[in-house]
Amino acid sequence: MAKKRIVIDAGHGAQDPGAIGPTGKREKDFNLTMAIKLDALLQANPNLQVSLTRSTDVFLELRQRVKIANDQPADLFISIHANSSTSSTANGTETYFSRSTSAPLAGVIQRHMQAATGFKDRGARYGSFQVIRDTKMDAVLLEVGFISNPAEEQKLFDNDFQDRVALAVAKGICEYLGVPFETEKPAAPAPYPEMTVTVHTAAGSTYTGYNIKGITWVPSRPIGELLGGRIGYTKSKVTINGEPVETQNINGVGYVTARDLTKQLGARIFWDKAEPTRVEIYPQ
Ligand SMILES: [Zn+2]
Repeated sequence: MAKKRIVIDAGHGAQDPGAIGPTGKREKDFNLTMAIKLDALLQANPNLQVSLTRSTDVFLELRQRVKIANDQPADLFISIHANSSTSSTANGTETYFSRSTSAPLAGVIQRHMQAATGFKDRGARYGSFQVIRDTKMDAVLLEVGFISNPAEEQKLFDNDFQDRVALAVAKGICEYLGVPFETEKPAAPAPYPEMTVTVHTAAGSTYTGYNIKGITWVPSRPIGELLGGRIGYTKSKVTINGEPVETQNINGVGYVTARDLTKQLGARIFWDKAEPTRVEIYPQ
């Protein structure tokens, strides 16, 4: 599968501070911190290629930001901002799209981001901002919260809050693109009995599968590729040579049934009668 290209845009910069909070905190700093956190979460994902319009406190014109994304061309553009109002009580999280084709992305990101902020849900809404209007790919502009609201300003500059929101947006991006969210953190043990899956090819190896209600599930990509298959992801489902199959996401990895995988790829599979936790797979 070709890597999906993502451009993350930290709004404002340098002489343009964006909005200023009641305690003097600057929107440009929040935007940059969030962009860097989001980049770090997505960078390790083998399905994604991530770049930033700015990774330091520099100024870019709006059209330069658009050009960076259009020149790639990127598959997805995310601009990060904090909101501001003359009313100090204005509050909440919102996500803007400018073209109707970007509305589904805005909906997914808003759902994840708002749950993480815990702020009022102002929804996914239309707004004709240049960076999301003139970019050619799915593009959204996030207003995480109101920097003009004292309570929200404080949260926006809280490290744990930032980490939580960055993680939520990263997961939303992966959900929208249909790729598993993967981080380098050790995965929690899956709540299913383990199966030992041995693949008998020259490069063969042993993998951990799971027995879920009597069905054997195996990690799709390593075994599928060992058997010469093309493994992809679309709309949260694993595809084997382009065919979507029933999928379980376990700790960010796409698992498919051993039967589907071997059937699609013409491999043979044997369950060991004496050792019911063992599965042997042979290429045809
Ligand atoms: Zn802004």
